[in-house]
Amino acid sequence: MNKVLPLLIIAALIIVNCKAQESETISVNTKSTVKPEKLPLVNNGKIKNVILMIGDGTGLAQLSSGQLNVVGKEGLLHLQTLPVTGLVKTYSADNLITDSASGATAYSCGVKTDNGMIGQLPDGKACKTLLELAEAKGLSTGLVSTSGVTHATPASFGAHVPSRSMQAEIAAQFLNTGSEVILGGGQEYFIPHGQQGSRRTDDRNIISEFEALGYEYISTAEQLGSVSSDKLLGLFSISGMPSEGRSPTLAQMSKKAIDILSKDQDGFFLMIEASQIDWGGHDNDAQYVLREVKDYDDAVKEVIDFAVEDGETLVVLTADHETGGMTMQYSESDEELTIVWTTGSHTGIPIPMMAYGPHAIEFSGWWENTEVGIKIARLLGLKDFPVIIE
Ligand SMILES: [Zn+2]
Repeated sequence: MNKVLPLLIIAALIIVNCKAQESETISVNTKSTVKPEKLPLVNNGKIKNVILMIGDGTGLAQLSSGQLNVVGKEGLLHLQTLPVTGLVKTYSADNLITDSASGATAYSCGVKTDNGMIGQLPDGKACKTLLELAEAKGLSTGLVSTSGVTHATPASFGAHVPSRSMQAEIAAQFLNTGSEVILGGGQEYFIPHGQQGSRRTDDRNIISEFEALGYEYISTAEQLGSVSSDKLLGLFSISGMPSEGRSPTLAQMSKKAIDILSKDQDGFFLMIEASQIDWGGHDNDAQYVLREVKDYDDAVKEVIDFAVEDGETLVVLTADHETGGMTMQYSESDEELTIVWTTGSHTGIPIPMMAYGPHAIEFSGWWENTEVGIKIARLLGLKDFPVIIE
């Protein structure tokens, strides 16, 4: 027994270590010369609109491997053309490693909360979100995600619950936001118990309740082209949207959201989440991450094209945390890249932020995630922020 135990421990360590050293090679584009022009710093004029894009689980390795795969070592993704970069510390109130609920609440409310909590402080008090305050100020607002729209990141901008798992309640709370555009996956929490795929335990049909409030409801990419209403609920899949053959793409949803919201002369606030970069990280699946980074970057191009044309739109790209401990190691040739994962969970490594538009320069440097939310609130003219509801 005394001899067996150490051997068992060594065997276990080897197994654990093998799991932690999982690697795969991905191809590097050696032919591309795509290098979009870098965007200039613009004068610190008026901010009319703010578009906040969150790449869930997106660290430097996710972005860099995406760049190597899509446009090669000398290329640039669109998200790399923004003139200002910053770094964001992501710890939550109760853990050095955040989850997406507390990670998004840091941005939406400007407060650190416990992992799993949505739009609330650790003591259960609710905090007003950027989206709610922008809506109250007369701006139009929108949420776009490739996960279900009731998933932690979008939920943190339009709901207040102690647990991210309360997605049926989150869907119902979205009715109160007044948000003009909600696009993504997640029909499962909007359709009544008993309907195929429903994950509700009650008979409420949240889609019908949205329609009663004047929203147009759509569920296919084709319908995106013929939307006539200025209030839109689009749920394109029962759960998270498919990663392969996604339709509509994040870019298509983002463009539609901007088309509708930009009709408001008072301006708008839009949160767009590339939700599944995180899921690729949890799966330690580099191909999944690459697909999702490409989908994200295509959406960034839509957003940037609008912002450049508009001139009064601040664009901030960030993440909630890194996922997978993704890194890149030595490969035999320039045509391949070896990806190594160190975990199937989130990590605490700081994440990159990029900004473009009026006042973008103010996003340079090291940040607490909460400070980013507070900065956006100030720039939107929301003087009291964070707002805690007693
Ligand atoms: Zn995650």
